[in-house]
Amino acid sequence: MITHGAEYSEPRKFSVVEKALPTIREQDVLVSYGKHDSALASGVCGTDLHIHDGEFGARFPLVPGHETVGEVAAFGSNVRGFEIGDRVVADNSEICGHCFYCRRGKELLCENFIAHGVMVDGGFVGYARYPAYRVFKFKNFSDVDAALLEPASCAAHGLDKIAPQMGSRVLLFGAGPTGLILAQPLLQNGRCHMVIAAPAGVKMELAKSLDAADEYVELPRDSQASAARMEELAADHPYGFDIVVEATGNSEILQNAINFVTKGGKLVVYRVYGDEDLVSLSPNKIVKEEINVIGSFSRVYKFPAAIAYLDERRVKVEGIVNKVFKHEEWQDCLDAMKSKFVIKAAIVFD
Ligand SMILES: [Zn+2]
Ligand SMILES: [Zn+2]
Repeated sequence: MITHGAEYSEPRKFSVVEKALPTIREQDVLVSYGKHDSALASGVCGTDLHIHDGEFGARFPLVPGHETVGEVAAFGSNVRGFEIGDRVVADNSEICGHCFYCRRGKELLCENFIAHGVMVDGGFVGYARYPAYRVFKFKNFSDVDAALLEPASCAAHGLDKIAPQMGSRVLLFGAGPTGLILAQPLLQNGRCHMVIAAPAGVKMELAKSLDAADEYVELPRDSQASAARMEELAADHPYGFDIVVEATGNSEILQNAINFVTKGGKLVVYRVYGDEDLVSLSPNKIVKEEINVIGSFSRVYKFPAAIAYLDERRVKVEGIVNKVFKHEEWQDCLDAMKSKFVIKAAIVFD
């Protein structure tokens, strides 16, 4: 059988190609995006823009799509607990289990870490195969909302890394999907006051409608005016914040974010940046003020937590995906991602 969708031959070069269906091994589940009646989805995020440019460890040729929601189309002889047609989400990460890090229980740092949609084919061609231990059933939310489970699983890992304490004052830069999904569990775990700082616009409006913070600081797009607003923010919170999260992917904001961290506080680096990006931070500030700089990347065992949070509506995602495209419209989708009117896009199949 043949399927088709967008495939990159090299960075920035892609075309709609025909692909043979992946063969499944005895431990695999074949996930279909749209073979059955409903429109199933693959989320698109800022990481895909870095992959487009060949960054973030992307390997070519490559079918993108790392936030995939589909139905079980087939499974191998060793797979238990799935039926054909089950609605499922796939954790796009695979770990080897035998490298230096895996053998020490640090699987996220696996030397052979494989990310579907980054290093091996993802979901944009309509079918993908995953080992069954990376596939999870869900039922109580729409396919498009289920595309948010991947970022929600990253947020669950982020929470573990941040380990917020009761009474935390939190500042989060960025009101994009990644930030909004992290903001909600942070709100419910330890925060006593939370500020979201981001430009005015559809993302900030959505943040407000999701009740994602206690205080919203709208940063002007003009850099001088934005710097002035940041100074006001610093003056309003003279002791800074226990937790400052950089969730915009802008290294200049990251460089400034440390100035908002209270002594003994945490600076969380939470987005994907350009491979060439550098920041300069005062080492004396980090030493004398005992600032913890925390990186949080992907996750390995957090899909069950993400599914539970969305199921219980402790993380609300309605309205985050506000634009959908067919897989033949990948260029339009890439263009739209750069518009400030798109909060998050998804590819749908029907
Ligand atoms: Zn993503
Ligand atoms: Zn490993």
